[in-house]
Amino acid sequence: MPVGEDQVAHVEITREIARRFNSIFGREQDFEAKAERAIKNLGAKNAAIYRDLRKGYQERGQDDALVRAHALLDGNSRLTLADRERLLGYLEGTGRTILNEPEALLTATPKVTGLDGRKMSKSYGNTIGMREDPDEVAKKLKTMQTDPARVRRTDPGNPEKCPVWDLHKLYSDAQTQRWVDQGCRSAGIGCLECKKPVIDRIVEEVTGMRQRAQEYEDNPDLVHGIIAEGCEKARAVAGQTLDDVKQAMGLAYR
Ligand code: SF4
Repeated sequence: MPVGEDQVAHVEITREIARRFNSIFGREQDFEAKAERAIKNLGAKNAAIYRDLRKGYQERGQDDALVRAHALLDGNSRLTLADRERLLGYLEGTGRTILNEPEALLTATPKVTGLDGRKMSKSYGNTIGMREDPDEVAKKLKTMQTDPARVRRTDPGNPEKCPVWDLHKLYSDAQTQRWVDQGCRSAGIGCLECKKPVIDRIVEEVTGMRQRAQEYEDNPDLVHGIIAEGCEKARAVAGQTLDDVKQAMGLAYR
């Protein structure tokens, strides 16, 4: 799932919900490996008994083996709740991954700060709009905050303390980044000079986005068609997942 650094916590909550659901109603990823590790946690003697009981129930259909195995797990204080649920699922041969755990996909620059160095947010008024007027964007960037230590042109700075550096990491090549790093630390370049390459790149990017967006602004039907098609695809996938969830929870009535 492509996200910014700020959204990683949301992905993690989603992962926990999926893991919990799967451990109760199905099987999580690497289920067998985790179940085998949990068996070892039972201790050598109980692990051997558990394996025998599991075999008895799964291969010979011995219902009493299932009851005894449940009692074995209930009475084992070495197990975490999650491992106990794993071993119950492993015992009964149930379980499959019903809800996939999403992974956060981050770029090399997962967080871009706002014009004032704080989190970029509309409520802080420190954003650059993707379809903003290029002249306005250039103006904002020219007055963007820099390292506060550079009060005068002759004061050396530190790019790590400057939000413009975040933009260089995103938009500039290695050679330009070296030029910024050395020039800033030695006061060899001024801040406006330093900002010039990122201003040029961002203005170019915003101009391109405005041009591409124009086609859709001129043709709302095209946008509605794309949304309808996307909804159709999403509905099919979500419907299948919901069916699986209902089935796993015993709520399917068809
Ligand atoms: S020279 Fe560049 S990196 Fe250094 S403080 Fe100025 S704008 Fe920031």
